[in-house]
Amino acid sequence: MTASDYPMWIDGRTSESSSREWFDVRNPATGAVIGRVPAGTSADVDRAVAAARAAFADGRWRGMWVPERVAVLNRLADLIDERVGEIAALETAQTGTAIKLRRDSDIPFSAENLRFFATAIRHLEGASAAEYSGGHTSMIRREPIGVAGQITPWNYPFMMVAWKIGPALAAGNSVVLKPASLTPLTTMLLGEMTKEAGLPDGVFNVVTGRGDVVGAAIAAHEDVDIVSLTGDSETGKRIAALASGNLKRAHLELGGKAPFIVFADADLDAAARGATAGGLVNAGQDCTAATRVYVQRQVLDTFLAKFTDLMEGVRVGDPTDESTDMGTLISETQLERVDGFVRRARAAGVRVVTGGERASVPGLSGPFYRPTILYTEDQKAEVVQSEIFGPVVVVLPFDTEEEVLAMANDCRYGLASSVWTEDVRTAMRAAKALDFGTVWVNDHLPLASEMPHGGFKHSGYGKDMSRYSFDEYTRIKHVMVELDGEAEKGWHYTVFGAAKG
Ligand code: NAD
Repeated sequence: MTASDYPMWIDGRTSESSSREWFDVRNPATGAVIGRVPAGTSADVDRAVAAARAAFADGRWRGMWVPERVAVLNRLADLIDERVGEIAALETAQTGTAIKLRRDSDIPFSAENLRFFATAIRHLEGASAAEYSGGHTSMIRREPIGVAGQITPWNYPFMMVAWKIGPALAAGNSVVLKPASLTPLTTMLLGEMTKEAGLPDGVFNVVTGRGDVVGAAIAAHEDVDIVSLTGDSETGKRIAALASGNLKRAHLELGGKAPFIVFADADLDAAARGATAGGLVNAGQDCTAATRVYVQRQVLDTFLAKFTDLMEGVRVGDPTDESTDMGTLISETQLERVDGFVRRARAAGVRVVTGGERASVPGLSGPFYRPTILYTEDQKAEVVQSEIFGPVVVVLPFDTEEEVLAMANDCRYGLASSVWTEDVRTAMRAAKALDFGTVWVNDHLPLASEMPHGGFKHSGYGKDMSRYSFDEYTRIKHVMVELDGEAEKGWHYTVFGAAKG
C-alpha cells in the first residue's frame, strides 16, 4: 500500500479486497490520481455483512443505553467539525466542486445532521401503552431492524453518508456502506473516526467497488435487512428488484427535475437570484436543483434579463480557489452527457440564451461547463422532461396558475419544487397541488435536519433526515400483556366449547 491508498473498513480495522486489486480515484479538475481504493468483491461484502451481523447479534451497540449511543454520535460530529478543512479539501479534490460549498456548507451540515439524529433518537414516538382490548396492556417497542446496506452517490459524497448512517446508527443498527466509485475518499476517513468516537467494531463497515458488483451484492444479500440508495432512478429500480429476494426493505432517494414557478407578482430580483443559486449549486449536480423555470408571460422578458445577467456573472474556475463559484462537473463522461442534452435541444429548436458549451479555465483541462439557460415553449422537450444533472436550466413561459401547476406535475420525477409569489393564497394552492416531496415558497434549496427529504413517483420512496427517517431504520413491535390471570377467556368459545352463561 502507498500513502494515498484508502483501504476498506471492516470489523473495526482497515482491509484490502479479496481481489487484491485497487482502482484509482482522480481529481476531475487536474486529472491527477489522488488516491486508490480496493476493487471490492461480493466476498468482501459477505465479510462486512458477517461483521455487521455479529455486532448486531451480540448487542454491543444496540444494547448500549441510548445516552451512550448519543455520546458516540456527538463525538463523531465533533471530530468532523475538527477536521472540516481537511475533509472539505479532499471532497473538493475528488469532486471538482468549489471549496467554499464543501467547507462552508455540506461538510459542516453533515456534523449538524449527526447531532440532530443523536438528539432525535431520544424522542422516538409510538402509540401510548394502554388497555385497548379486554384485559390487556398493549405497548409499542421501536427496535433497530438489523444490518443496513447503504449505497451513496458522487454528488455530495460525505453528506450523503451522514444522512444515511445518522438514523441507522442512532437507532442501533449495524451498517455496511458502499460509496460511489468516483468519490470514495472522504468516506474512507470515517472508519478511523468512528473508532475514535467510540463506535464498537463491526457496527460500521465500508466496502468500495463497482455498483454492479459491490452495490448489487449488498442489495441482494440474504442477511441485509434494509438497502438504502441515493442515486439514479434506474439504479433504484435495479436495487428494488434485487431487494425482493429476501423481502428486505428498500429506501430509495432518486433523481429529480425540480420546477421553479415564478408568478408575475413575485419579487423578480429574489427569483432570479434563487434560480441562479438553485440551478447552479454543485454545478447543477443536485437532485433538488432548479431545472425547469416556469415564468408567467407578462414578466418573462424582465425575469430572463435579470437571470441571464446573474448566470453570466458566475465565476467558473479552479475549485480550490476561494473566488471560484463553480468548479468542474464530476467527469468528462458527465460533461459529454450534459452537452449531449444541449446539442440535441439546439438541434430540436430550443433557444440557447447563454452558455451551452465547455468553459475554458487557464491551466486546467477538466470538465468545466458554462452556466447555461435554455428557452423553450415545448413542455415535452427532452430537456424539460429528463434529469440533466449539470449547470443547465430550462425556462418556459406560462399564462395561468392552472396551466403551470399541470406543467410542473407533468414529469416523472417528484422530489422538490418551488413557487415564487407575494400572494399567500397562490402559494398555498400551489403547495397543495404540487406533486413533490418538498415545496419551497420564495426560496429554493434550503434544508433542515428536522424536516424530511425524499421524493414521490420516480424520485423514490422513504425519507432522509427528520424523525421520519427513523421509520426506515426501526421496526415496530406490539407487545400485549394479559392482565386478569384467568385461564378461560370470554372469547375462547368461538374456537372451542360453548359460551359461558
Ligand atoms: P448512480 O445511481 O449511478 O450511483 C449511485 C450509487 O449506486 C453508486 O454508489 C453506484 O456505484 C451504485 N450503483 C450503480 N449501479 C448499481 C447497481 N446495479 N446495483 C447497486 N448499486 C449500484 O447515481 P450517481 O450518478 O452516483 O448519482 C447521481 C444520481 O443520484 C442522480 O440521479 C441524482 O438525482 C441522484 N441523487 C438523489 C438524491 C436524493 O436525495 N433524492 C441525492 C443526491 C443524488
